[in-house]
Formats: sequence, structure tokens, C-alpha cells
Amino acid sequence: MKNLNILISGAGIAGPALAHWLIRYGCAVTVVEKAPAPRPGGQAVDFKGETHRTVLSRMGILDDVRALQTGGSDQHLIDAEGRTLAVMPGEFTGGELEIKRGDLARLLHDRTASACEYVFGDSITSLTETPDGVHVTFERAAPRTFDLVVGADGIHSNVRRLAFGPESGCVRFLGHYYALADLDQDFGPVGRMYNEPGRMAAVGGPKAPAFFVFASEPLDYDRYDAEQQKDILARAYAGMGWRVPEVLAAVRRAPGVYLDSISQVRVDRYSRGRVVLLGDAAYGNTLGGFGTGLAVVGAYVLAGELAAAGGDHRAAFDAYERVFRPYAKISENGNAGPFLAPGSPSRIRMRNWMFKYRFLLAWMMKMTDKFATDIELKTY
Ligand SMILES: Cc1cc2nc3c(=O)[nH]c(=O)nc-3n(C[C@H](O)[C@H](O)[C@H](O)COP(=O)(O)OP(=O)(O)OC[C@H]3O[C@@H](n4cnc5c(N)ncnc54)[C@H](O)[C@@H]3O)c2cc1C
Repeated sequence: MKNLNILISGAGIAGPALAHWLIRYGCAVTVVEKAPAPRPGGQAVDFKGETHRTVLSRMGILDDVRALQTGGSDQHLIDAEGRTLAVMPGEFTGGELEIKRGDLARLLHDRTASACEYVFGDSITSLTETPDGVHVTFERAAPRTFDLVVGADGIHSNVRRLAFGPESGCVRFLGHYYALADLDQDFGPVGRMYNEPGRMAAVGGPKAPAFFVFASEPLDYDRYDAEQQKDILARAYAGMGWRVPEVLAAVRRAPGVYLDSISQVRVDRYSRGRVVLLGDAAYGNTLGGFGTGLAVVGAYVLAGELAAAGGDHRAAFDAYERVFRPYAKISENGNAGPFLAPGSPSRIRMRNWMFKYRFLLAWMMKMTDKFATDIELKTY
């Protein structure tokens, strides 16, 4: 594939993971990322089961990921007085191998940076397919032509919008929002999660950012305006008990807050001509717990099928669809919103109750392992 010149949009997890494989297969790779640098910090993401382990090992980064792993930590589900009602164990929240999302993005970037071109602080503005390539214009850089373009730019994918049409046709809102904020106030070494019907606030513990999930109608707001998002949180959590008023005051002081809908991506096909989607852009399900594994395994399969087809993108994209879509099906089913922020007192009790019984927990973990390993990995 020495002559293939490939543009990847997005330097999150899927983009650099794909770059890693394409470089190894001899392609010339450019990654364009809207943010000015790999995005640091953030929440923890996790890998589980043999399939994820095998792909990380074939990438040669399993030991590096292990060295950076956070170690799952327990979340105490508490009542309004702060008393523990149940404990969500670390192995449930953190899978088998948990790492901060920002650390993983940085690791993948650093592993690929010297062998491909990263363009930060830019974004694609148009894609025009010709018989031999895709002509691409950018917000800042000069126009260029590539053989293939990959949209690995997350759940609100820019490439998907340009090549597949408006987001409303591919992204389904699942009835909840989530928010993350780095607070200047320490809420203690133990992670605590407080629920009232349709609302959840979690603070404390080593997982750093405060985390919120709440039920809502679709909201109209600017995703890049932090103050607007703080107002939304203040309204959504007004009158909530425990230490939530104190948490909200700390959110007001926070430099930024990240608020987004819990949504699910569904496209009838991952590719259109020479443009293909990968990771959350293709099969994202916010907070579903499988996004990072799907991104890394998807990158392995997409690059592998391109290599197996000798760079014939039509054959490769067909094979990617055939091999990967059944595995990505898990992203079409889950909705973490009602689990994290159950809608009534009885549902909150039922959710908490599940964590009191080891056998139920063991069963849930067995199921997630089954989904995470439900693909036969080829050796490309
Ligand atoms: C709170 C939270 C908890 C999560 N927990 C888990 C978990 O426990 N386990 C798990 O597996 N997954 C989890 N996930 C999901 C996981 O982070 C993603 O599913 C995974 O990282 C997929 O990677 P991606 O590269 O496809 O997308 P992303 O990581 O979102 O990367 C997309 C990149 O594209 C960039 N971009 C956006 N627009 C443009 C543009 N116009 N031009 C160029 N670049 C652009 C973005 O800046 C970003 O760097 C969680 C997500 C959140 C928000």
C-alpha cells in the first residue's frame, strides 16, 4: 500500500490507532485534529477481554497501557446523608484495564507522531470525490488531494456530516445528558455517587472530574460555551440534596465544563465512496463502556482489510463492514442514562440492589466480556 495517501480526521483514540497500522502497512498518513494538541486528562476508559488485549499486544502497546493504568476504584452509591447504600466495585466501572482517556490519546499520538503528519488546530471544510481521489479543503491549510479520507472525529463527526449528511440522520438522542468538570475542591478520596430521580452527581475518588448525568428534553446550546453549560447544569440540579449545592458552586468556579448528550450513532453503511468512518463517528454510544475497545479493534480491522485487499478500498470497505458490523452491534443496544440516573425512587433502589449480590455482578461482567470478545480476529 506504499502509494496510498490517507487523511484521517480526528486525533482521539480511533484516529491515531488507525495511523499506527497504516504506517506499518506503508501508507502516507496525515491526521488533522481540530484541537490545538492531543486533548489531555479526561475520564477513564477501559479495555476488557481477550480481543482488546490481543489487539493492544499486536500494536506493541499492551505494556505501556498497563504502565499507565489507573486501577478501577469503587464508587459508593450514597443517600442524602452521605451514607453508603451499595458499592459499585472498581472491576465493574473500570473493566480489566483502565486508563485515562487523555493518557491513551497521548500514548497513541507519541507512538505515531514521527512517522506521519499531524496537523493540529485545523478542520476539513469540504470533500469532493473524483475518480482518483478526494479533494479536501481545510479551514486553515491549503487544499490537498488524498486517496482516502477517514472520519475518526467522534460522535459529532465532521467528516460524517460532510459525506453522509446532517447529524440528525445518524445520531439518536437517548434522553439524557452528561457533564464533566474538573473542580478545585476536594470531595474526598472515595468516589461517591448521589441520585435523585432522573439526576446523578458523582464526586471524589481518584477519577478526578466531577461527573453528572441527568434526564432531559433535547437542549439547544453552544457546545463550546462553558458558561452556558454551567447554567444548564445549575438549572438541572436546582434543589438537589446532599452536597450538590456545594458541588454546583465549585462547577461555577471551574475553568471549563464539558456537557454533551448521551446519544447513539447509527449509519446504514460505514463508507461512502472513498470516505470511511471509524470509532464513535461510525458506531458511538456515549458512556456505553465499549467505545474505546471498538475504536481500537475497528482500527485494526479497517487497516488490516485495506492491507489484505492490497489497497483496493472498495473490497476493503466491504470487508470492514462484513467483519466489524456484527461486533459493533453492542453499541446499538446500550443506554447508560437510565442506569446512571434512574427515573424513580424504586428504580434507584433496584439499580443499587444489583450491586449487593456478587452473583448478579459476576453475571453482568460475564456478559460484557462476552460482547467484548465476540469477533474472530484475523491475522492480517
Ligand atoms: C464520560 C465518558 C466516559 C466514557 N467511558 C468509557 C468507558 O468506560 N469505556 C469505553 O470503552 N469508552 C468510554 N467512553 C467513550 C470513549 O471515550 C470513546 O468512545 C472512544 O474514545 C472512541 O474514540 P474516537 O477516537 O472514535 O472518538 P474521540 O475520542 O471522541 O475522538 C475524536 C477526535 O476528533 C476530534 N474532532 C472533532 N471534530 C473534529 C473536526 N471537525 N476536525 C478534526 N478533528 C475533530 C476531537 O477533538 C477528538 O480528538 C467514555 C466517554 C465519555 C464521554
